[in-house]
Amino acid sequence: MEIYKAPFSILNKKIYFCGVLNSLSEHFYHIFMELLSKRLACLSESQTMAMNQKTQDLQAAGVDVVNLSVGEPDFFTPDHVKAAAREAVDNNFSFYSPGDGYMDLRKAVAAKFKNENRLDYTPQQVIVSNGAKHSLANAVMSVVDDGDEVIVPAPYWVTYVELVKLAGGINVVIPTTLENDYKVTPAQLEAAITPKTKAFLLCSPSNPTGSVYSKAELEAIAGVIARHPRIIIIADEIYEHINFTGSHESIAQFDSVKDRTVIINGVSKCYAMTGYRIGYMAAPLWIAKACSKLQSQFTSGPSSIAQRAALKALTTDSSFTEDMKKVFRRRRDLVLQGLSEIPGLKYNVPQGAFYVFPDVSACFGKSDGKTVIRNSSDASLYLLDSGYVATVPGDGFGEPKCIRLSYATSEEKLSKAMASMKAAFARLK
Ligand code: PMP
Ligand code: GLU
Repeated sequence: MEIYKAPFSILNKKIYFCGVLNSLSEHFYHIFMELLSKRLACLSESQTMAMNQKTQDLQAAGVDVVNLSVGEPDFFTPDHVKAAAREAVDNNFSFYSPGDGYMDLRKAVAAKFKNENRLDYTPQQVIVSNGAKHSLANAVMSVVDDGDEVIVPAPYWVTYVELVKLAGGINVVIPTTLENDYKVTPAQLEAAITPKTKAFLLCSPSNPTGSVYSKAELEAIAGVIARHPRIIIIADEIYEHINFTGSHESIAQFDSVKDRTVIINGVSKCYAMTGYRIGYMAAPLWIAKACSKLQSQFTSGPSSIAQRAALKALTTDSSFTEDMKKVFRRRRDLVLQGLSEIPGLKYNVPQGAFYVFPDVSACFGKSDGKTVIRNSSDASLYLLDSGYVATVPGDGFGEPKCIRLSYATSEEKLSKAMASMKAAFARLK
């Protein structure tokens, strides 16, 4: 017996010691957490990124999960763009670029706005950044002060409200409805405006709902903003080219608001270049200059190599993007067909981007015998644990009745995911 006691007691001591260490490190963790800035304390982690990471961890552990969480094209960057990146390496594009991006790239972006959107911008009004997320951050930080209100229609992309919080602003969230295709109405917008309103954030085509505002709808919204000369519009048009309605409309086309509109766009989605991290804005010169100053202190210019690749992407024909769009449309139809076979789900028909955002509240209160689904986080986790399908809960998008599915993955995987979701929902009673 003595022989066995010794190792057990050592083990017990070890466990005790580890426990002490754990609680000590927990203790210090909490002390140190208090040292973090208050601005950071109010910031939530990106749910899209978090869910993607969780899925990738599961996949690395050998679990066969279909990842419908993150929104990034599953296509490879076009060959001619990859070649441009290689050439940039060979041609020693290894030095800092100008802080706002290379002038030839800024000229190409200005030309894109002229040719594709009939919008006049000088290259000085274009700032190239580390992804559209960074362009958005620049725009928000440049115009939002402590206590300023920013109007954000919900469902919104997860990052908007966090950037506003980080800038010290106050989010004024306008809920939209499925019946209205999740679009904000001019009357709702007018009612949300106060003397403290500083900015209005608009996303079309929308992440997460895929809603696309028509020219007439944008004109009506511009009409409201035009009556309030101190409000800046931040228009996120990153999904411009993944639009199934036939044409993209920008709110900047209306002269009454153009000189107060910042357009955000980039190469991540339309050229399958998410990892290159190149986004851009076109803005009134005074905002562009403010963003230039901010960027000069925060990051300097984005990767010189990625900029050369982005220049290539922007100056060659759009056949790659057109082909990708056709594939996305087929996939959207496949997912909608799958969802139509699941009783109780409600959803709009997305006209752009690559997401579907079904309302799953019909399953709240139900259980598979083990798990009770109380909200969209539970629904999303249940689909992951029980159906091996990764989605993103709607909470982070400001709509806790929904979950987001990204259909930027193969038809084979989508079919598998839809069958699995159908079976998982059927188990809930
Ligand atoms: N806006 C929206 C609506 C998005 O979905 C994304 C997704 N990444 C971005 C901006 C940021 O794009 P980027 O990869 O260029 O930072
Ligand atoms: N925009 C993508 C998404 O919504 C990428 C993730 C992110 O940038 O947060 O999933």
